[in-house]
Amino acid sequence: MMALAGYPLGVRCTFLDRSAAAPGAQVAPILVGPLEDAALLAKLASDNDVVTFDWENISGTALAPLEKLTSIRPPRAALEISQDRLREKALFKRLKIPVAEHAKVDTRDQLVLAAAKLGVPGVLKTRRMGYDGKGQFVVRRAQDIERAWDQLGAEDLIYEKFQAFTREVSIVGARSAAGDIVCYPLSANSHGDGILRYTVAPYTSPAIERSAKIYLKRVMSALNYVGVLAIEFFVVKGRLIANEMAPRVHNSGHWTIEGCVTSQFENHLRAICDLPLGSTRTLGHAAMINFLGRMPDRKRLLQIDGLAFHDYGKEARPGRKLGHCTILKADIADRNRALLHALKLIKPAD
Ligand code: AMP
Repeated sequence: MMALAGYPLGVRCTFLDRSAAAPGAQVAPILVGPLEDAALLAKLASDNDVVTFDWENISGTALAPLEKLTSIRPPRAALEISQDRLREKALFKRLKIPVAEHAKVDTRDQLVLAAAKLGVPGVLKTRRMGYDGKGQFVVRRAQDIERAWDQLGAEDLIYEKFQAFTREVSIVGARSAAGDIVCYPLSANSHGDGILRYTVAPYTSPAIERSAKIYLKRVMSALNYVGVLAIEFFVVKGRLIANEMAPRVHNSGHWTIEGCVTSQFENHLRAICDLPLGSTRTLGHAAMINFLGRMPDRKRLLQIDGLAFHDYGKEARPGRKLGHCTILKADIADRNRALLHALKLIKPAD
C-alpha cells in the first residue's frame, strides 16, 4: 500500500522482507533476508534516500548503523519506545497522557503483588514483541495468576488494570521534519481476540477527538517525529486512556485510502520524503473490515455499492490479516447498513 501510494508521487520503494512472497514484492523490488541482516540493511540504506518501517518489532540496534548512511524516519527512539510497553507508558505519563494503572512484573511474586495492588481483572502482557493480542493473558480471577505466569513468565512483563471501556478509538496523524502536523479524524475500532476486526470513521465525538489530537501532537513533538504515528486509546467514562502507540502506518488508518483526500500511506511518504503534507479531509463515512485467516467471496462483496477490495496476496493462515475492504458512503446510516451486510459476508476463519 505504501509502494502504491508512492508511484503517483514519483517515489519508488524498495522493500526488505523475510520472504520473496511478501505482499510488497508484487508491486516493488524486494531484498529478501532477515530483517536484521547488516549487509542487507546497509544496501537498503545506501541505495535509498530514506529508510522507514511498517512493522515495529525490528531491532533498533540493527537500524543504528544506518543512521550514518541515510535518514531513518520515524526516528529510532520512537521505534524503541514503542517496542517496550513500560517505556511507552512512561512516555505517556511524562507527557500527561492518561494510561491504565500498571506494574512491572519480572517475577511470580511481583505478579501476585501487582494483582493484589491493582486488583483483578487485569491484563498480563509481555513488555516486548506483543501485538494483535499476542503475548497477553487476561487475569479474570486470582486463580488465573498461576496459568498466566506459566504462559508468559519467561519474559519481561507488565500487569495492567483491566479497562472497562465503552469504545476503543485510535488517532492517526503525520508530522513533517519542519514540524507541520496533520491529523485524521478519530477511528472507532472493534477487536476480537485482541485483533482488529473493523474500524468505522470518522467517529464523531468532538471532545474526545480534540483530546486525542492534542495527545498525538504532544507525542510527535516530544519525539521530533517524522512520518505517520498512531495512538490507540480506550474510552472509559468518556475519558481517553492511552493503550499503545505505533510508529508507522496503522491498520485503523487503512480506510483513509478511499476515505480521505490524502491516505495515511501517501502522507507517510510525503513526510519522510520532505514533501508538503496532504489534506486529511474526509470524503464520506467509512468502514474498514479486515479479512482474517481466509479471503471472503470477492464477487458477493463487490456487489456492495461503494466498497473497495484489497487483497494483499498473502498465504492464508488462521488469524492472519490477508486483506481488507473499505466501504465509503455519503450517509452514516447507509454506511452502517452496508457495514452490517459486509460483516455477514466476511467470517474470520477459526
Ligand atoms: P494491545 O496488544 O495492547 O493493543 O491489546 C489488544 C486488545 O486487547 C486491545 O485492543 C483491547 O481490546 C484488549 N486490551 C488490552 N489491554 C487491555 C486492558 N488493560 N483492559 C482491557 N482490555 C485490554
